[in-house]
Amino acid sequence: MENFTLASPTTIEAALAAAQQADAKFIAGGTDLLQLMKDHVERPQRLVDLEGLPLDKFSIGEDGARIGALVRMSDLADDADLRRHYPVIAEALLASASPQVRNMATIGGNLLQRTRCGYFRDVGFTACNKRHPGSGCGAILGVNRLHAVLGGSDYCIATHASDLAVALAALDARIEVQDSDGTRKIPINEFYLLPGDTPDRETTLTLGEIITAVHVPPPANSERSLYLKLRDRASFEFALVSAAVVVAVEDGRIRAARVAMGGVGTRPWRLPAVETALAGAALTREALMDATAHAAEGARPLNDNRFKIPLMQRALTRALLTATA
Ligand code: SF4
Repeated sequence: MENFTLASPTTIEAALAAAQQADAKFIAGGTDLLQLMKDHVERPQRLVDLEGLPLDKFSIGEDGARIGALVRMSDLADDADLRRHYPVIAEALLASASPQVRNMATIGGNLLQRTRCGYFRDVGFTACNKRHPGSGCGAILGVNRLHAVLGGSDYCIATHASDLAVALAALDARIEVQDSDGTRKIPINEFYLLPGDTPDRETTLTLGEIITAVHVPPPANSERSLYLKLRDRASFEFALVSAAVVVAVEDGRIRAARVAMGGVGTRPWRLPAVETALAGAALTREALMDATAHAAEGARPLNDNRFKIPLMQRALTRALLTATA
């Protein structure tokens, strides 16, 4: 790890002022950034510790949920109101990392975690456009079993690693961010950028902007939600394929559904074609399989990750059957 200075502001304004240099980084729980610093992937000269900021409050009301950026993952997952109103969020959180990591990691940090691409996280590999723009991509012709089949480019095919972000994508959450000019709310489905030819740019956050909260709309009447994560081992593992479903049922048929997937896209992947096909579908395996057949439309699988194509359809169908049972 390289030397760095540490600032510990107690107001958002002071934190924003301390982070105006390009070599500064915000840190909260540190569960991702510290590992990247130890591995020399990240080399900030200045860290701005956010732990002293008043961003650790969580509430649910008629307008939905407001989740402060510094709320711990474990605290949110344990909240009885959250589990009742937004089970998909609690399930996504509990499927993430380990209890020890969830006790430290924050909601804002989870949304900004970096990809788990092994080429990105090992500086022994020189080709990684995300780490060093213009250096190439080791994964495209390398080992790409865990990589994206949707949203990739010739420059990067890394998946986004957050389970929580997939649940929030299905819920149409908005990310509240603040800079010295004020606050703005960004729909989560516009917050993450496709890699294109600049995979080092991952979100629409600008220099010095900070995530202050996540807003989740109130659940509709009779809406049910669920998060299903398929992975190589049962805990402390990232998704091969995951599915977040938010579904309303009426008279034995799906009235409306919102669906997002993880482990398959370069950002949390919303599936509008599946949502359209699900509207009015009967709650049978056959009808749901017909609708979820659209899941991988536009996919570009590589040598090692073709298995994700059929797995997407099966995972989504299982998630829908479970949620509506
Ligand atoms: Fe780097 Fe992206 Fe290629 Fe991984 S997939 S090596 S993160 S450019």
